Amino acid sequence: MIVVLTGAPGAGKGTQAELLSQRCGYKKLSTGDALRKHVKLGTDIGKVAGAIMEKGELVPDDVLFKILKEELGAIGATEVVLLDGYPRNISQAETLETLKATQPVKAAIHLEVDRNDLIARLSGRRVCPSCGSTFHVTENPPKKAGICDKCSSQLNQRADDKPESIGVRLDVYEKNTRPILDFYGKKGLYKKVAGIGQPETIYKSLKTVIDAL
Ligand code: AMP
Repeated sequence: MIVVLTGAPGAGKGTQAELLSQRCGYKKLSTGDALRKHVKLGTDIGKVAGAIMEKGELVPDDVLFKILKEELGAIGATEVVLLDGYPRNISQAETLETLKATQPVKAAIHLEVDRNDLIARLSGRRVCPSCGSTFHVTENPPKKAGICDKCSSQLNQRADDKPESIGVRLDVYEKNTRPILDFYGKKGLYKKVAGIGQPETIYKSLKTVIDAL
């Protein structure tokens, strides 16, 4: 089954998907991570996606469809798949419906966070380009400023976490992605979890919702 983890950029979807996959063995599929991998490798998909992502806009649906097929193809029908960052518009949500036979969507869980908190989280986020660990300059700082605790690489700020892109991403979310909440609401699949507080508390709330599915 598929569990859609939805919410604005900075809501903590990636952090929670990582915790849930580490502790519960769910498969995590982050379309943002998959796209960043393509950009890094310089593939055809990466060449299309890179500049769009840097601006904070949405990569075309047909590109996302290729990624979804590629990533979901490697996942068994009995596994729990956490989708982080997909769907991001109604058309993508409809595409996901076409996989119903093998991978039914059992819930769309919305991590709810206020816009001001989102901006603070995104602008302070720092990521390790080597191992993917994520930090925050004030909320979750590395032991040594600018250096990854896990692998000692120099931390970076994602290009799309710069102020000019953050506004675009949040506006794109409101216009394109928020409508999917209603889409899943009409199907009786919408669930909401408060995305504010300690990651551990949010994790427990999410786990309770997923366990009940
Ligand atoms: P994320 O890591 O989920 O914040 O995604 C980073 C960027 O990748 C987004 O701002 C988009 O440019 C692109 N992206 C990720 N997932 C999607 C998607 N489902 N549809 C379109 N663009 C996406």
